[in-house]
Amino acid sequence: MSTCRSSTGSTTAGISSLLGFLTRPHAQGEIRVHAAGKKLLASYEEMSHQTEGEQRRLARAQAFTELVAGGLAGIASLACYGVLWWLLADGVLPLAVGGTAVLAIRASTARLTSLVQQVNRLYEELLFLTDTEDAIALATENAIPTTGAPLPDPVDEIRVDHVSYTYPGTDTPALRNVTVRVARGQVTALVGANGSGKTTLTKLLSGLLLPTDGHVWWQGQEGTHRVDVREAARADVFGQVGLLAQDFPRWEMTAAANVAIGAGDRPRDMGRVKSAARAAGIHQLIENLQHGWNSIVNKGYERGVQLSGGQWQKLGTARSLYRNAPFLLVDEPTSALDPHAEIAAFESLWSLAGEGRAVVLVTHRLAATAHADRIYVLDQGRVIEEGTHEQLMARPDGIYQGMFTAQAAQYGAPAIPVQPGHAPAPNPVTGGPH
Ligand code: ADP
Repeated sequence: MSTCRSSTGSTTAGISSLLGFLTRPHAQGEIRVHAAGKKLLASYEEMSHQTEGEQRRLARAQAFTELVAGGLAGIASLACYGVLWWLLADGVLPLAVGGTAVLAIRASTARLTSLVQQVNRLYEELLFLTDTEDAIALATENAIPTTGAPLPDPVDEIRVDHVSYTYPGTDTPALRNVTVRVARGQVTALVGANGSGKTTLTKLLSGLLLPTDGHVWWQGQEGTHRVDVREAARADVFGQVGLLAQDFPRWEMTAAANVAIGAGDRPRDMGRVKSAARAAGIHQLIENLQHGWNSIVNKGYERGVQLSGGQWQKLGTARSLYRNAPFLLVDEPTSALDPHAEIAAFESLWSLAGEGRAVVLVTHRLAATAHADRIYVLDQGRVIEEGTHEQLMARPDGIYQGMFTAQAAQYGAPAIPVQPGHAPAPNPVTGGPH
C-alpha cells in the first residue's frame, strides 16, 4: 500500500515539476530552440496517463471492496430481520419489543458504519504519521549540534589533516587522505578536473560536511589551541565562514534582501549592503533601476527586473562580502563575468587576503591561481600536487603545468614554464606579467 502510495506520490511530484518547467520563464530558451517542450509535453501526458491508470485501479479496488462489504452487510441485515420476523410470528417476542429492536438495529448499524469509517481514516492518517515520524527521526539523527567547544579566538587557520570523505549512499570516496592548509592573509587555490573533489573540500572547510576519516582542525595563532570540527560549536564555525557557491540561491526577493541575507542573523545595514555591492561592481546598476534597492530581482513580480548571469554573480559576490567573514570560500566566482569584471573580481579577492582574511578559491581560470599563495591540485579525490605557481610550473610533467600551458596557448601566449628565480609567465587573461 505504501509502495503504491509513494510511487503515485513521486509521479505527482514529477508532474508538478514538469509543469514548473513548462510554465516558468527560465527554461523557455531550450523549450523552444531545442524542442524540449515536445519532449516535456509527451512526458507530461505519459505521467498523467500513469496517474489516471493508478486512480482507475484504486477506484475499481475500492468499488470491489464496497460491493463485498455491502453484500455481507445486506446478508447480515437480512438474517437479523429474518430472525426478528420469525420471533414475532412465533409470538416469542411482543410487538412493542420487536419495534424497539428494529430501532436498535438501525441505530447500531449507523454507529457501526461510522466506526468503520473512522477506523479507515485513522489508518490513512497513521500512514502519513509514520512517514512524518521517520522524517523527524532522520532529521534528529543528522541535526547539527547546537553546543560544542568554542573555537580559538581568533582562528588563524584551518588544517585539513589526512581527510577522507564518502557521501552517504555511495561506495567511492569523493576525497582520499587529503591534507590542506588554509591560512588567514592568504589566497589558497583549489584546481583540478570536474569531479576531482574541490567542492566537497570547500564543504568540509565550511563545516557543512564532517570528515569520514581524518580531522579538520580550527587552529589559533601558532597552533597553540586547536579544535576538531566534530567537537566545535558548529554555529561558531559557520560564523567564521562566507560562502559563494557555484549554484548560490537566487532569492525571489528585493536586491537589498538578496545582499543582506548574507548575514541573515543580523539586522540589515543598508550602508554595508551598498559598500558590499560597490566592491562587487553591482552598486551602480541597482541604483539606476526604477525601484533601486527595492526592485525584486526576478521577473514576474511588480517591481521585478531580470538580471543577467554575470549580474547575478556580482550580486552573489556582494552577498558573501556583506557577510564579512574571516574565511571566504568561493567556487568559480567569475564564470559568467566579462573580462574586465573578472579581473576586478579577482583583485577584490586578493585585497581581502591583504586585509587578513583567508580566501579559498576554486576556479579553472589559471591566470588567477597564478597569484595564489598556495595551489592544491586535486585528481580523483587526492591532492596530487601542491605549491606556488612558480614551483608547480617548474615540474616539467606536472598536471598544473600542463593545464596552465594548455590554457595559455588558447590566448596565443608563449607558455614558457617559469623556473624559480625567473620572471613569471604572462597572464593569459590580462596579457601582462603576473
Ligand atoms: P568538483 O567540485 O571538483 O567538480 P565535487 O566535489 O563536486 O567535484 O565531486 C566529487 C565527487 O563527489 C564526484 O564524483 C561527485 O559525483 C561526487 N558527489 C558530489 N556531490 C555528491 C553528493 N551530494 N552525493 C553523492 N556524490 C556526490
